[in-house]
Amino acid sequence: MTSARSPEPVEGQARTGHVLITGGSRGIGAATARRLARDGRNVVITYAHRAEDAEQVVADCRAAGVDAWAYQAELSEPGAVDGLFTRFDEEIGRLDALVNNAGVVSPQGPVTSYDSDRVRRVMEINVVAAFALATEAARRLAVDHGGSGGVIVNVSSRAAIRGGAFEYVDYAASKAALDALTVGLGLELAQQGVRVVGVRPGVIDTEIHAPGRLERVAPEVPLGRSGTADEVAAAIAWLISDEASYVTGSTLDVGGGR
Ligand code: NAP
Repeated sequence: MTSARSPEPVEGQARTGHVLITGGSRGIGAATARRLARDGRNVVITYAHRAEDAEQVVADCRAAGVDAWAYQAELSEPGAVDGLFTRFDEEIGRLDALVNNAGVVSPQGPVTSYDSDRVRRVMEINVVAAFALATEAARRLAVDHGGSGGVIVNVSSRAAIRGGAFEYVDYAASKAALDALTVGLGLELAQQGVRVVGVRPGVIDTEIHAPGRLERVAPEVPLGRSGTADEVAAAIAWLISDEASYVTGSTLDVGGGR
């Protein structure tokens, strides 16, 4: 198999390629960007609306000594992924890894309350855009396409296994689709120098939750608390690293046992 290793960084210098992290302005994506920057990885983060938050993440990453940029991309818009990669190709060049992180939950309720617009929106962002992002990344990383190998990390959810009953079964289904992408694309790219992996966070303390949900659900977690974005970022950083060189086509639960 072709080596997926990126060139080792020269002491005091960052690697030449960049890790693209969608939804990097806050939550798990922001924690991942800051963590990877501390690990010496150059990053490009995307955000939908919160430009100031994104610029703060970029400033923190640069302060860690790496190259960092923030691109605006509303992933529900047609052409957003193409536009994002066109800009990346022109301004950055080499992609080392994708963290397919941006995602949305839908309002809580039973399936019988859903309309098709709601389901379509969550599928467009969590599935259609995520598939397009992984596809474009694969086209740049795979050795048969002239790439140097790399890693794609899909940020799934424990909801994919638990089903999201009475909360967001459509969200759970969107993340189950992402899990299947991890397996299938992982197999397709196994001989291409590209590992495709995922994380399934449980209840993580970010702004994604409806008011009061964290407090309600955290006591159910066997480890007795909600997780932090930094704890998920640590798992992603390991999966991206060469330490995880024999891991592909699989998704790691980061849910405190729930
Ligand atoms: P978050 O705090 O709500 O942050 C979401 C990020 O995604 C922000 O950077 C946001 O940009 C961006 N984003 C939101 N909608 C977007 C859109 N339509 N187009 C482009 N970007 C968009 O979320 P999080 O908790 O960190 O979640 C990150 C990932 O982890 C998601 O895929 C989520 O499903 C998954 N996850 C989270 C948990 C949890 O408990 N937190 C558990 C399981 C899985 P702006 O800041 O510009 O709005």
